[in-house]
Amino acid sequence: MRVVVPLGNRKLTGVVWSIHTEKPEGYIAKSIEAVVDDRPVVTKSLTAMMSWMSSYYMCSIGDVVSAALPSGMKLASKTRILLNPDGGDESGLGDSATLLLDALHLRDGLNLKEVSDVLGSKYPQRVVRLLIDKGLAITEEELKEKYKAKKQVFVSIVKEVLEEEEVLSAELVRVEKKAPAQYRALIAYLELAPLGEEVLIKTLQKHADVTSAVIKKWVQKDVFNIVERDISRLAAYTGEIQALPTLSAPQSTAYSEIRTSLVQRKPVLLNGVTGSGKTEIYVHLIAEAIKAGQQALFLVPEIALTTQLITRLQKFFGDSIIVYHSRFNASERTEVWLKVLDEKKGALIVGPRSATFLPFSNLGLVIVDEEHESSYKQQDPAPRYNARDVAMWMSSTSKIPLVLGSATPSVETVYLSDEGKIARVNLTERYSGVMLPEIFAADLQKEHKQRSMRGGFSKLLREEMVAAFKNGKQVILFQNRRGYSPSWQCGACGDAVMCERCDIPLTYHKKGNGLHCHHCGYSVATPPVKCVACGSTSVTPKGLGTQRIEEELGELFPEIKVGRMDLDTTRSKNAHSKILEAFSNHELDVLVGTQMVSKGLDFQDVGLVGVMSADKMLTFPDFRSFERAYQMLTQVAGRSGRSTTRGKVVIQTFSPDHWVIKRVISGDHDKLVTHELRERETFGYPPYVRLIRISLRHSDEERVKRGADILALRLRQRFSAERVIGPDTPPLYRVNDLYHLQLLLKFERNISPEKYKATILEDLEDFSTDPRWKRLRVKVDVDPV
Ligand SMILES: [Zn+2]
Ligand SMILES: [Zn+2]
Repeated sequence: MRVVVPLGNRKLTGVVWSIHTEKPEGYIAKSIEAVVDDRPVVTKSLTAMMSWMSSYYMCSIGDVVSAALPSGMKLASKTRILLNPDGGDESGLGDSATLLLDALHLRDGLNLKEVSDVLGSKYPQRVVRLLIDKGLAITEEELKEKYKAKKQVFVSIVKEVLEEEEVLSAELVRVEKKAPAQYRALIAYLELAPLGEEVLIKTLQKHADVTSAVIKKWVQKDVFNIVERDISRLAAYTGEIQALPTLSAPQSTAYSEIRTSLVQRKPVLLNGVTGSGKTEIYVHLIAEAIKAGQQALFLVPEIALTTQLITRLQKFFGDSIIVYHSRFNASERTEVWLKVLDEKKGALIVGPRSATFLPFSNLGLVIVDEEHESSYKQQDPAPRYNARDVAMWMSSTSKIPLVLGSATPSVETVYLSDEGKIARVNLTERYSGVMLPEIFAADLQKEHKQRSMRGGFSKLLREEMVAAFKNGKQVILFQNRRGYSPSWQCGACGDAVMCERCDIPLTYHKKGNGLHCHHCGYSVATPPVKCVACGSTSVTPKGLGTQRIEEELGELFPEIKVGRMDLDTTRSKNAHSKILEAFSNHELDVLVGTQMVSKGLDFQDVGLVGVMSADKMLTFPDFRSFERAYQMLTQVAGRSGRSTTRGKVVIQTFSPDHWVIKRVISGDHDKLVTHELRERETFGYPPYVRLIRISLRHSDEERVKRGADILALRLRQRFSAERVIGPDTPPLYRVNDLYHLQLLLKFERNISPEKYKATILEDLEDFSTDPRWKRLRVKVDVDPV
């Protein structure tokens, strides 16, 4: 149960973790001020999971509990800023306000200090005030329970009045002339609810065109009853429930193989090519769990991108679906929490990584869809957990049946299946019987030489687009850069306008004609007309962002309609759905977007997918970059040709002969994994070793360097030199005026993690109590992705 406890001069919510009678030593225990709940709101299995997460991911229990509980369930003390659950006016926000709003969306409330950090400003009050004035944020001035059930008022007619026709007509005659409003109210009610049903007071008011005072007159006369009811904020399903989908022969085989493994309590990797119909198999598994009165958890990488999936699932499970949406407000999240806790019927819970924290009472199945996705890993703040690995832990400790699904499973998961720790089931054919799309590489170097490029579009891509439009097909264009162009650059000397606080070029946004930093929110109102380095005036936007692609499309194909889906066009709650609906209804011919268009979209008429530039993915300095590039390209390619005719994909690249591109074209995921496993064994990377990354940040470059060196030295003495790599500079050395350095620790899989983690924590504790490194920010990331 939750309790209110004093901490310093603040009052906070705590969760009772254990009850004991040992008198604490070294400090005086204070009294609990209040017990919030009338029943436990956190289950035993959840506390067990949170304890494990705290030790495995090397963070405090408090960090884990804080991440788990929806902010609506946490009592706040003064000066905490929260997203307003009722939303407000998002128009005309400046960069700082947008940045803070984004941070509030991501984190469950910030105090002023944290707001300062987010904005990189000592005086954040102005920005906070702006959000409050616009109704977007709220502060909690006093200690109070934030979550209040939403109430609605219903009107119904007193049963006796309805049954006694004479009484009713007498009342009507009496008021017809004297009180026409009352007359209208009663007539309207009888029209809306001839059998005496409950009607929303607002509906009745509107229908009769009367005020609520008029309706209350009838209440005084004992003709109407009024009741106040808690209503769910979660939209109810009103459509028809369909029979479960029929499985094709390959699906049926896969399904029974999965069942066999699950019965033996062995997790399963379902490796099915894009469009192979994994969802239908999930549906059958979920239906079984629900029938047995169990809860089924369906994890998806990013809930906002899965509206299509939820619509499909609703057709089979109706109101048994509970969606835990990352964009839900505090009250909605609390409502889901309590529903999962209290509901004893079978149910399907669909949600992103945070849904693993829900207080399940009878979990009978966990599905992790697109298990390879890095969004299952939380980056900041702690706990830096990976929901897929948490699900693996749940499965191994509580024997909960687990299915990991992917068209491009992670190297780690394939390794586990090779080791026999999880079973592997393959689906190699598309559900519709349509072949996987045909993939071509457009050689950008050659096209540039032959001068056949038009802006960012190769001749090959343009020709395929023309052909697609001619056949009435739609096109998806993928470019993982938002804005107009990634830099504002000098044509003479190559100098780009950099962020003042970070080591990256500013992105040019044509809308508003400004340069913006996507990392810290710094911006320049108008781009310079002269190069600061050489004075040349040939400064122009360089490179291709989604805005520019949209603009170039207008010039190349003036007659077609283009939609864009990226962070800039999807800030409001339902923007995703609106764009996708327009595309689905053929109001748009082309959808341009960032990685948002690569996941979970299933459109019947997409005949062509264009990848505007594949090169950046292949050169990103990370041991997973080839794996990631393969996954990303295969996922986005998989959006093409899903229903009737074979789709096409054009990948634009300067290195069409790169082995990863070739593997993508031939669809040979197994060969890619074999190659990667060999490399990782040779160079000592997961799954052959376990990684822990320690990052240090400080505004003083010298201090972070010295601190990192000393910490590295100490850790080397403890664990031997070859287990400690660095300090190294990450790809972004300076962000928001903080210098970053990182150490990478490698441990063989056969060493017990508990032991070395305890040692590392001890060392970090010592390190952080040294006054020289006091203000150095240290972050520990276990199994970084
Ligand atoms: Zn220049
Ligand atoms: Zn910046």
